[in-house]
Parts: sequence; C-alpha cells; structure tokens
Amino acid sequence: RTTICLFTRDLRVHDNPVLRHAARADRVVPLFVFDETLLQLPFTRPNRIAFLLGCLRDLRRSLGEAGGGLVVRHGTPAIEVARLVDEVGATEVHVAADVSAYARSRENGLRLALAEHGCTLHVHEAVVTAHPPGRVTPAGKDHFAVFTPYFRRWVETPPRRIAAAPEALRMPDGVRTGPMPAREDLCPGALSPELPRGGETTARQQMLRWFEQGVADYDEGHDDLAGDATSRLSPYLHFGCLSPVEIVARAGRSEPERAFVRQLAWRDFHHQMLAARPGCSHLDYRSRGDRWRDDPEAFRAWRDGRTGIPIVDAGMRQLSREGWMHNRARLITASFLTKTLYLDWRLGAQHFFDLLVDGDVANNDMNWQWVAGTGADTRPNRVLNPMRQAERYDPSGNYIRRYVPELASLPTAALHDPRRMDPTERDRLGYPAPLVDVDEANAHFRNTRGRS
Ligand code: FAD
Repeated sequence: RTTICLFTRDLRVHDNPVLRHAARADRVVPLFVFDETLLQLPFTRPNRIAFLLGCLRDLRRSLGEAGGGLVVRHGTPAIEVARLVDEVGATEVHVAADVSAYARSRENGLRLALAEHGCTLHVHEAVVTAHPPGRVTPAGKDHFAVFTPYFRRWVETPPRRIAAAPEALRMPDGVRTGPMPAREDLCPGALSPELPRGGETTARQQMLRWFEQGVADYDEGHDDLAGDATSRLSPYLHFGCLSPVEIVARAGRSEPERAFVRQLAWRDFHHQMLAARPGCSHLDYRSRGDRWRDDPEAFRAWRDGRTGIPIVDAGMRQLSREGWMHNRARLITASFLTKTLYLDWRLGAQHFFDLLVDGDVANNDMNWQWVAGTGADTRPNRVLNPMRQAERYDPSGNYIRRYVPELASLPTAALHDPRRMDPTERDRLGYPAPLVDVDEANAHFRNTRGRS
C-alpha cells in the first residue's frame, strides 16, 4: 500500500496526525505543492515565503533522517497530487483540514480529482487548531460569537491523542524529490531585516525554552512592550511547525500557563468564526454601517510609522523591521487606524498581511474586526488612547526608544505624549508633528459611531 502525505500548514513531524496516518502504509510519499494560484494572490509576500522555505528545508531534513524525503512540486495541488498518485500508484492521500474559503475549495478540488483516479482523500482534524472548528459550539448554532463562553467549553473539551513522530519512513523507489526553489523566484521583493528563522527544529527549541524559562512571567508580563515577554511562537503555529494540541498538553495548571493557554484558545476561537463565516476575511462579521474615511496620506503615515504618535510609530516600525509585532502594539496601532483615523480595517489588515510572518487569514482578519468593532468584541465602541496606552504598557519608554531611535534621547514623558515634545527639537530630530489631535478624533468617534 502506498500513500501520499500532503503537507500544507502542518510542517512538522511531531504530533502530526496527517503524517502519522499516512506513514502506516508500506510506503509513503511526503509532498509539498507550491500552489500557483496562492503564489499569485496578494496574500503571498516575501517575509512569509522566506519563512516557509526555512520550514520546508527543515522538514525535508527531518523526513530524510527517518529514511524518507520531501517531494516538492509546483502547480495546482489537485493536478499535481493526481499526477503523483498515478506515478507511485497511491491509494490514499492524507491532508489536514483547514478553514479558509481557499483551503476548503482546494480540499474539494482534491476530492474530485482523486475520485477519478480511484484514490481516497483522508482529511484530518485538530492539526491546525487544538479543537476543530465546529467541535465546540453553543446549542443549535454553528459557532460561538463571544469568547468567554466559548473558552469555558473549549477547556472542558477532551483533546485528541498526541501522535508520535514516525520513526521510519519508506518512500517508493525512484521518486524524484525536486530542488527547493529560490525565494526570489517564488516571491521577489525586500525582506524585513530581522526575520525569525523558520522550521520545526527552531520552533521546538523555542517552545521548550518558553516552558522552562518564559511562561512563568506570562500573566504579569505579557502586556509589557519593552519586556518582550511573550512566546513569539505565532509564526511557528501559523505554519504548523508546532502542534497546538501538543502545546496545550505541555502547559501545566499554574496561573501563567493557564493565561497562556487562554491565548491559544483565542486562536481557535477566530478559526471557528472564519470557518462558520468564510466571507468574513473581507466582509464585516457584524456590519455597523461604517462610512470609513478616505485619506491616503493618513494611511501612508500610519503604514510608514510616521504618525507623530511615538507608540503607534514604534509598533509599525517593529512590524517592518521584524515581520512581527507585539500583541499590545497590534491593538494600539489597529485602534488608531480604525477608530482615531477612522479608516477601513481592510486597509490595515492588508498591510499587516504584507509583512507579518504569522499573517493568518483567521487571526489577522478576525482580530482586525475585533478592534474595528465589526467583529466579536462585546464593547465594539471602545477606543484606545495611545498616549495612555504608552504610559501603561511602555512605562520606561524603552519600546519606543528601540523602534523610534531618533527619539531615544528625549525624556520618557515626551515619548509617551508628543504634546510634551519641544517642536523645535522635534523638527531637529526629523520626527513629524502629530497627524491628528487624538483626543478630538477619539471624541468625534465616540460621538458619531459610538452612539450608533
Ligand atoms: P503569545 O502571547 O505568546 O500567545 C501564544 C499564542 O496564542 C500566539 O502565538 C498565538 O498563536 C495565540 N494568540 C495570542 N493572542 C491571540 C489573539 N488575540 N488572537 C489569536 N491568537 C492569539 N496572530 C496571528 O497569529 N496572526 C495574525 O495575522 C494576527 N494578526 C493580528 C492582528 C491584530 C490587529 C491583532 C490585534 C492581533 C493579531 N494577532 C495575530 C494576534 C496576536 O497579536 C498574535 O498572535 C501574538 O502577538 C503573537 O505573539 P506570541 O506568539 O508571542 O503570542
């Protein structure tokens, strides 16, 4: 019996039910297809492709150590998989279930193509998320729209069993694995200079270090911008270098570990929302009749980290430098775009997608909607004051100093609130004046949308 293990967003050998089941056959062909359609979409961006290639090289090495390899093809997954089925005489293809509209149409395409080749498709759940979307639901509904009751049920739901990494793999003779493409050929363009390294090996080292040293401070420290005390596991979770089921199983019952697991449940929460409402990657989950402003200049200032509000600019510059941004900074910058500037959340979400290594349809679009007040936030009209956020979450000002170095010599009070900056000094440092009067803009938001 020969099977194909089609890797998508599950680029790991540990706790991977897709690989585990496929590897029960006498021979298995691990396969990754560079999907030509996905490569053409605006979703495909240099930072994520560079990270993805790191993941694939690492996966190829781990599979090789177990006696297998990783076959790499380019094209339409259904066509490429069917071609390989014929080449190796496979009778089963194994793949992970995923939630986006695109992933589901890919799965349908595969099922149809394989049926014509007498081959069955096995779709495995709880690979991308800890619990599959649709498993944790309120009575009579297809998904939860409020996090707290969702979380209560989520923690009570029994997890699936951990799948051991296969010890030995056997590929059919004569299968060509194909060269790994160069990043520039797949997706040319500049990379952020301080990107994390992709791959399960790095991911597991980081996860083990996190549980040994990092997580103990999580509930106290996760909002401290300068302390940078979160796990930074999100890119590895996005590409499936780590299993969310395994991470939850490794977490103990201490307060900080429970706080950390709660964040992982947010990830599942957004996935189950997108699974139930696939159109919400671009449509409002709850339309509030917003008439977003059109202001390309303000958008550019936000995007380039030149709004004149230091905490907002620090977040945006962290994003372009590292392809990642601290969650608190994501909240501040997204609130500033959608509520202070009152610009469409889709513009912000696309820019985040352009750079985030962890850029994820469910997490990015649903979090943007949460902040914009068109999503699951039970207080959709709350608007953050970036000055107060800076005082509270960057009390030393060192996060701002790190990412807006031209302001490093200024006193902390001026970093928190640009109204306390001397305009002559500000001009000398080449830093812009505030783009808007934040208090006025936020009051305007509260008085207009806030009343609707
Ligand atoms: P930790 O604090 O260590 O949390 C552990 C894990 O829990 C994370 O790796 C992540 O997988 C999950 N998690 C934490 N917070 C959230 C959350 N609010 N929603 C969903 N999952 C969460 N996260 C992404 O993975 N991809 C995105 O594209 C993305 N876009 C976002 C856009 C906006 C506007 C906002 C406000 C948040 C976004 N997030 C996104 C959620 C969150 O900011 C990141 O997951 C987190 O900052 C990653 O850092 P970490 O791994 O150190 O998180």
